[in-house]
Amino acid sequence: MKLFGRQDLLLIGALTTALIVVFSASISRLLDYVREIERQSGLTLMPALVLLTAAFLFHQYRRNHVDQAKAAAAEMATKAAQHRAIELERLVAFGQALGRALDFDSIRTAIGQHLSALADTENVWVLVREGTGWQALAGDTRGAEDVLQWGDLAEQLLATGSPDKTPTTLPISRAVGFPLIVGGSAMGVLGVRPANGALEADRRRIIEAAAALLAVSIKNAQLFREVRENSVRDALTGCYTRGHALDVIDAELRRARRSQTPVSLIMFDLDHFKDVNDRHGHLCGDAVLNAVGKRMKEVLRGSDLKCRYGGEEFLVLLPETPLHGARRVAETLRREIAERPVPWSGDALTITASFGLAQTLPGEVNVQAVIARADQALYRAKDDGRNCVRIAADTATVIVDETSRQNRVV
Ligand code: GH3
Ligand code: MG
Ligand code: MG
Repeated sequence: MKLFGRQDLLLIGALTTALIVVFSASISRLLDYVREIERQSGLTLMPALVLLTAAFLFHQYRRNHVDQAKAAAAEMATKAAQHRAIELERLVAFGQALGRALDFDSIRTAIGQHLSALADTENVWVLVREGTGWQALAGDTRGAEDVLQWGDLAEQLLATGSPDKTPTTLPISRAVGFPLIVGGSAMGVLGVRPANGALEADRRRIIEAAAALLAVSIKNAQLFREVRENSVRDALTGCYTRGHALDVIDAELRRARRSQTPVSLIMFDLDHFKDVNDRHGHLCGDAVLNAVGKRMKEVLRGSDLKCRYGGEEFLVLLPETPLHGARRVAETLRREIAERPVPWSGDALTITASFGLAQTLPGEVNVQAVIARADQALYRAKDDGRNCVRIAADTATVIVDETSRQNRVV
């Protein structure tokens, strides 16, 4: 423990002087005594005593100095360790938040809560490769132009070398890009624009660790989304499976009842499909089903629900669409199928399909009832010679209303 500090020097000086004054008589006697000894023994004690005292004081001063330097170094090391512990805690918290995230919304939340503190700047962004393009997952997305520029930046970064190379500082906007890499393939980039223009080595290491955690989490979310999508999609046509589609239709009918908007349902079935299989084989039949799936994707909106209901039977749910609109859609799809033959072993197969249409009645939420009406209309289309569109009889009143140009459910 240190009794006196630098600020106490004046006090110590005054105290020493006071002591010398108080004990001056004793000191004088002591000096006389020493001189007496010197005289009697023939030794020169006084200079040696002065020399020894000076050396002792100098030694104490040096030791004091070294102790102070050691204390300062220890204090700095403690602060650095505390700082590292805080950064590590932040990194662990980020990892835990990402560990709980199985979808992109949760990853976005984790990034929003932790990444700025880890990067020590608000200027952070994350781009994820989606197909051939880039999507800003998080960050300061000031307009599409910026996002595109970041995309270019990311392309440059990923093209600069092998995926496991260290992050590169890129010239655009003085940003540092950290590639998000899993299993040797780059799935995105984490961009940081340091507040003071440069990234210190420590900060860089922390962001590298955060980027590694983020990359794994993004890959997980992508895989999870893929698995979920695959489990409800039919691989041959790309349409939803029957079970999932029925759930979605149920939810859609309830939503439509709340918003009092019409919903139409198209059910169609390929004509004489058994003949296609019998004449050209099942592989050819599969190719036809695949082509029909593609036509549906081309003709229908992304918001329309496409479902493979059975073997060569399909359902399409058109939200917020009255019958006359659905009839137009069904006609377009029918023409697209009939007028664009499917290429097969150098041949071109002409395929047709028959369509049944139904619209929900006001307040109707019974999925099976609507499907049954569309199915009846489909049977009529088959009976009427196939390759045509027929509308469910129960919805005739709706059509009457629509022809009088009132696009409401009556
Ligand atoms: P219609 O015009 O009356 O509908 O006649 P159709 O021959 O299309 O009707 P049918 O129900 O008799 O035949 C349907 C055929 O679809 C029978 C079945 O072998 C075939 N099919 C069902 N699913 C698949 C599939 O995934 N691949 C192939 N290649 N054929 C399938
Ligand atoms: Mg058929
Ligand atoms: Mg059938």
